[in-house]
Amino acid sequence: CGGKKEEEKTVIHIGTNAEFPPFEYLEDGKITGFDMDLIKEIAKESQLEIKIEDMSFDGLLPALQSKKVDVVIAGMTANEERKKAVNFTSPYYTASQVIVVKEGDSSINSFDDLKGKKVGVMLGFTGDLVVSEIEGVNIERYNAAYAGIMSLQSGKVDAVVLDSEPAKNYVEKNEGLAIAKADAAEEEYAIAVRKEDKELLLKLENGLKTVKDNGTYEELLKKYF
Ligand code: GLN
Repeated sequence: CGGKKEEEKTVIHIGTNAEFPPFEYLEDGKITGFDMDLIKEIAKESQLEIKIEDMSFDGLLPALQSKKVDVVIAGMTANEERKKAVNFTSPYYTASQVIVVKEGDSSINSFDDLKGKKVGVMLGFTGDLVVSEIEGVNIERYNAAYAGIMSLQSGKVDAVVLDSEPAKNYVEKNEGLAIAKADAAEEEYAIAVRKEDKELLLKLENGLKTVKDNGTYEELLKKYF
């Protein structure tokens, strides 16, 4: 009878792990970063309302499967293993695994040189998978990148394997560290949804395409890198 109905937007819960600068990190207690801006822009394009939930990286895919969150964006590499469990959008960033060492350490120039060394990785990160494949490495697993970096600084481990951009970020902000000149393993970041959420995947995919086509994506790259 003529009354306008407010169009209600469904709230989509976004899972991330805000310890991965510049993709997601805390600034004055707020979750910010490239991924956060990207998902906000995509949501705007797709008429979705979002709510961001911060949790351990390791808990992200279980939270997605158990419907605690609907989308995961966390600098997450779309690897074959994960593709078995969830669906990914097209990649939005190409990254690589690098080796962080103590400044002046010239003994590590390749992933093979990690043999016989104590190497810090983050539990469940792709860096963990890369290092686990090298025989004879003494692996120390941490829950967050910062803990691994601290351990390297204090000499508890000889190296830390981590994604290139956060690695650069940590090396800039913490004294006495460097990135080894080793060939890096490339990988691609994408946004994850549950297998059955085909419609949501399509919305995110279209939103991502629009954001890339209209120049917003370029602006975000400039802002964060
Ligand atoms: N890209 C790595 C992975 O997918 C690390 C991601 C992260 O720590 N946020 O495992």
